Order: sequence, then C-alpha cells, then structure tokens
Amino acid sequence: MNIQAIIKMLTDSGIEEREAKKEVKMLLEHFCNYTEKDEILGHPLTEEHLKIVEGKVKSRLADRTPVQYIIGEAYFMGEFFKVTPDVLIPRTETELLVTKGIEIIKENNLKDVLDIGTGSGCIACTIAKRTNTTVLGVDISSDALRIALDNVTRLGINNRAVFRKSDLFSKIREEEKFDMIISNPPYIPMGTELEPELSHEPSIALFAEENGLQLYRKIVQDAPNYLKENGWLIFELGINEADSVKAFMSEYFTDVQTEKDLAGIERIIYGKLIYS
Ligand code: GLN
Repeated sequence: MNIQAIIKMLTDSGIEEREAKKEVKMLLEHFCNYTEKDEILGHPLTEEHLKIVEGKVKSRLADRTPVQYIIGEAYFMGEFFKVTPDVLIPRTETELLVTKGIEIIKENNLKDVLDIGTGSGCIACTIAKRTNTTVLGVDISSDALRIALDNVTRLGINNRAVFRKSDLFSKIREEEKFDMIISNPPYIPMGTELEPELSHEPSIALFAEENGLQLYRKIVQDAPNYLKENGWLIFELGINEADSVKAFMSEYFTDVQTEKDLAGIERIIYGKLIYS
C-alpha cells in the first residue's frame, strides 16, 4: 500500500483530507522517525514505514481513537505534551486563550496564576515556560494530574508550574491570592451529539450541566475570594456562550471583553476584578 492509499483509508472514513494528511505525517514522524525534512530531501518511504503507518491507521479507524492518543503526544504552542485518555487533547482554540493570558501577564507584570481544570497541564506549563510567573494547576482528577506532572518534567520547569488535586477552589486556602485565574472548563452542553473521536476523551473534561455553563458560573462566583486587587479572570468559551458568561462576569468584573477565533466564534473572555 502506498501513502496515497493510506490517506484514502482515512478520507473514505469521513476524515477531511487536510486532517488525514496531517495525521499520516504525525504517525510517520513519531513511529518511523521520518520527518518533513526527509520528505523535502526526497528520501523514499520504505515498505517497513508504510506497513507501520498502515497498521496505526487501521487501529485509529477501528474505534476512531484520536491520533494523539495513539501517538501519546499532542502538539500545543511549540511543544509536545504527553496525552492519554485521562486528559483532554489540547486544542488550537486554547492557544488563543494562552496567548491572550500571556499578553495580559506581560503587560501587567503579573506573578501568580491559577489554572482551573488543568488536565494535561498544557495551559499551566506554557504560561510558566513563557513568563515570569508561578502557576498552580488544579484538577479534580488524580489521573489527569499525573499527566500534568509528567509534562512539567518534560518541559523542564519543575518549580514554576505546580499541581494540586482540588475540585475547583475546594483545596485553595483563603489566604492564597492570585493575579490571574485562567480556565478552559468543560463547556459542552450535556447530551450534545459529537463526533466519535470525542467519546475517547474524558467526559468530565468535555461536558457541563446548565447548558454547558455550570463551571463558568461556579468559578466566577468564587474567583473574587482568590484574586488579588486588580486580579484578572480569563476563560475559553464554548459556542454561543459569550453572552451568558459575560452576564455572570459583569457582576464582579469590569471591562469584560471577548475575542473571536479564526472561525469567527467568540472564543475567549476576560475581565478585571472590581475592587470594592
Ligand atoms: N486545561 C486543559 C486544556 O485546556 C484541560 C481542559 C479540560 O479538561 N476542560 O486542554
């Protein structure tokens, strides 16, 4: 089987051609050490390479496992993060959240950041790596925290991103105050029909009650107790959630703004604590 035929196996199963090509490239790189450079230099693919990739594509399609779980890694903001089905696969949309968070941190010289629902730790690790902050990542899942700890070691930022098991703020002490709280909470309304790949991801990382809004409501309500004067709150948003989250935030936060992603969806929201 040649590489075109392998790509066709994916597209015939309904995977878009661009995504199919990207996945084959990821599999070649990870399992065969065959990179884009080899392709540019015209190094031929061996029968062995093709056989390996064909096998991986077959197991990918057998139960629609996301390619990142097969590889065990996901690319996010210039780094490869370890992922397993215990954590959500980092998404491109979340790069927008982290980029804006870093911009606010740098402009305001912020120091202490709390990442709620840290999962793989991709947000906490990237912020710690790229700014002068210390980031505390919390998650309700011990299995997720194990992955986050592996990622912090991978990135070599051990003391700058730390992790704790906590159901939202439950294990945060009143005297711990942060300059910024950042979160990409589960935000898909319960019962939403999704593509089969998503059934491999942890459902607590995907779905939320109250039409997807429960975690925003809870975090907004408690955040003022854990923020310093002029602290910031920044979230990633699900589709059509901007107005409701803005309404929650406007009670305690000022200058609440949203930003759209490349698809024109209001994807992030942020505001500054009203200090009274
Ligand atoms: N913080 C992690 C991420 O953005 C996990 C988020 C989640 O599980 N909802 O990828």
